Amino acid sequence: IQTIQLFGLPFVNATPSTWYTHIKTLLHNNEKAFLVTANPELVLRSLRDPAYNRILRQATFITPDGIGVTAASKRMGEPLTATLPGIETARELLRTADTLQKRVFLLGGRPEVMKSLIKQLAIRFPDIQFVGTFHGFGKEAEAATALKAAQADLILVALGAPKQEQWIASVYDQVDHGLFIGVGGAFDVWSG
Ligand code: UDP
Repeated sequence: IQTIQLFGLPFVNATPSTWYTHIKTLLHNNEKAFLVTANPELVLRSLRDPAYNRILRQATFITPDGIGVTAASKRMGEPLTATLPGIETARELLRTADTLQKRVFLLGGRPEVMKSLIKQLAIRFPDIQFVGTFHGFGKEAEAATALKAAQADLILVALGAPKQEQWIASVYDQVDHGLFIGVGGAFDVWSG
């Protein structure tokens, strides 16, 4: 998949359908990957915070999330083909995980949000195996330990930026496969 260097980060330059096909293949092949969906706020943080920037450089793919990023790419003379909203990417991954009966791990959101999220997702995606479900207020360390034994294929982390990328970077080397993605406020949206 083609990337364009913007703000010192390699952004995926693809149509939504090319991107979704690509991530489905990643999941199908049980590949290990760290996906970052970058909105303008995240880009600005990476420019001011060297430690966060180093974490983002470990990402396998960075997608432009929100028209602020694609608009900036046009002004800089390196126009990105499309915005690839993180919540859509995450939804495509869940659909694929359901079709392929994959093992999914969830971390983040308020305790009551996680509770209703599990119920909603179990109804919408009956063939997913949920191999870890932790809320995001004090369960991060427990989740990191559980992840090592979970053999998860898809790991969705909703702690907001920068916490979600920091958590992913801290566990990434401890597992041999899995698609990791920070999903921001997606759990709040899906649980309602
Ligand atoms: N969140 C969490 N633990 C925290 C802080 C935030 O689980 O310590 C969750 C919060 O409940 C929400 C998600 O992270 O579901 C995203 O938060 P926010 O909307 O602030 O982040 P953004 O989408 O702007 O990155």
